[in-house]
Amino acid sequence: MSSYDIFLFDADGTLYDYDKSEADALKAVFNFCGFNYSENVRKKYREINSTVWQSYEKGDISKTALQTLRFDKLFKDIGVDFDSNLFNEKYLYELGKGTHLIDGAEEICKEIYSFNKKIYIVTNGILATQKSRMENSLIKQYISGAFVSEHIGFQKPHISYFDYVFEHIPKVSKDRILIIGDSLSADIAGGNNAGIDSCWLNLSKTTNQTNIAPTFEISSLYELRQFLK
Ligand SMILES: [Mg+2]
Repeated sequence: MSSYDIFLFDADGTLYDYDKSEADALKAVFNFCGFNYSENVRKKYREINSTVWQSYEKGDISKTALQTLRFDKLFKDIGVDFDSNLFNEKYLYELGKGTHLIDGAEEICKEIYSFNKKIYIVTNGILATQKSRMENSLIKQYISGAFVSEHIGFQKPHISYFDYVFEHIPKVSKDRILIIGDSLSADIAGGNNAGIDSCWLNLSKTTNQTNIAPTFEISSLYELRQFLK
């Protein structure tokens, strides 16, 4: 069985329960603005957000455009009139407070740390949100560093993103590094581009309908224990 010295974890949907934090943040800002919030709003937002993130990952739109575009589209869809920029600002602030973890995240980070192995966060998320969330999080003590695409100027799965990461972590052979993430297009494709092993966290056990092949597939973070020995 393979073992690794450095674990590169994606943040949203891998260590952090983004769905829960997203719902909390949306609800809080909708309430603050005096708009009706419902499960339907959340569902619509998720569809729109996922589409604009895909455009961003393909390099079609900027991070700044992404942030307001998703609320422009949502407000148009639900017939609300509000400044998307301002809404986004409040939303990011609320999102930064959301530190819900994926089941097993705290335990597995603690175990990796206790084996004297290193954990880094590799994320395409938004800098301010990621920083605030990490500062407030239970896993902070186990993490050696975080690489936020917005700071680096490239995002996963771009090879330049990973070149930057490799320059800023301890020098080890690439076969000692594992990337773990829930996104085939960002995390697993990124690992493949970078020439490191990858582990797809497939919590909902969906079928991989892409031609992006992970080295490993798990449906629970606890399964990462196999890579420690
Ligand atoms: Mg993710």
